[in-house]
Amino acid sequence: MVAMMVVVGLAGASGPASAAKFLVVGGGSTTGVYYQVALNVCKIVNKTLKSKGYNCIGRPALGSVFNINAIKRGLLNFGVAQSDRNWQAYNGKADWKKKGPVKELRSVFSAHPETVLLATRADTGIKKVADLRGKRVNIGNPGSGQRGNATDVLKIYGIDRKKDIKAEGLQQGEASRSLVDKKIDAFFYTVGNPWGGGLEIANSTDLRIVPVNSAGIKKLVAANPFYVMTVIKGGIYKGVSKDVPTYAVKATFVSSSKQDPNVVYDVVKAVFGNLDKFKASHAAFKFLTPKAMLGGLSAPFHKGAMRYYKEVGLK
Ligand code: GLU
Repeated sequence: MVAMMVVVGLAGASGPASAAKFLVVGGGSTTGVYYQVALNVCKIVNKTLKSKGYNCIGRPALGSVFNINAIKRGLLNFGVAQSDRNWQAYNGKADWKKKGPVKELRSVFSAHPETVLLATRADTGIKKVADLRGKRVNIGNPGSGQRGNATDVLKIYGIDRKKDIKAEGLQQGEASRSLVDKKIDAFFYTVGNPWGGGLEIANSTDLRIVPVNSAGIKKLVAANPFYVMTVIKGGIYKGVSKDVPTYAVKATFVSSSKQDPNVVYDVVKAVFGNLDKFKASHAAFKFLTPKAMLGGLSAPFHKGAMRYYKEVGLK
């Protein structure tokens, strides 16, 4: 029996029509939501496209900026990234000002909204962004999407990240642990709700989420089509019972113009054809609709994705 399976496996791999198609999808920290996007897209791809030889791996990664750069370098076939980072990458701004624009970046679809979230503990006394002065604050690891949002927020509130706070650049898993262990006082994280790490923190300490909604923030949101004002709903995280106002961006699934359009088409068809399964795979995906998943994108559509959207009348 075992021998037979091996023979079948080899025969399957050697035929040109069924040559293995290895795909690597970059997510985020294991306790975040990006990793769930990467895992669950791959789960659907592996299940529905097995006969075509697909083998898709969703892996943890450092976040939006890392994923976009890794896609450019051909190290990832797909990745999850914030819509604001896509815009900056495509237009050569912020992290890409010196490196130059990533003109090959392509949108495949958008996923859940991500809130700019400032988390602290009750005992720090931090109730508003201005209270961060003199505190130890994680602004996100280089490569993460939240680092850019934290930088914007601090600037808008007139806080100098070099002088006014003790800024840390921890990866999110470590930041969550450090908040619980009282090694840091607060962290910025741009993430879908609920995120697994947040639920854990709320069960281990008195989690508080701080509003990020000054007039300056509203101005930033009004000036950029990829941002919206929103609230983090009360009742999601233990101890956070009231809605917390902040702003949000969309998580997107992106690729490179160099990625074979037939592969992108296959992946999009698999995801949209199994959307109920995808939506059920994580609470943050509950409200996704095909129409909404074509919105909030700031890099041009990949032509393989467009082919599918036209075929089913979504475009
Ligand atoms: N928005 C974060 C980033 O771009 C990742 C959030 C997550 O992993 O869910 O790095």
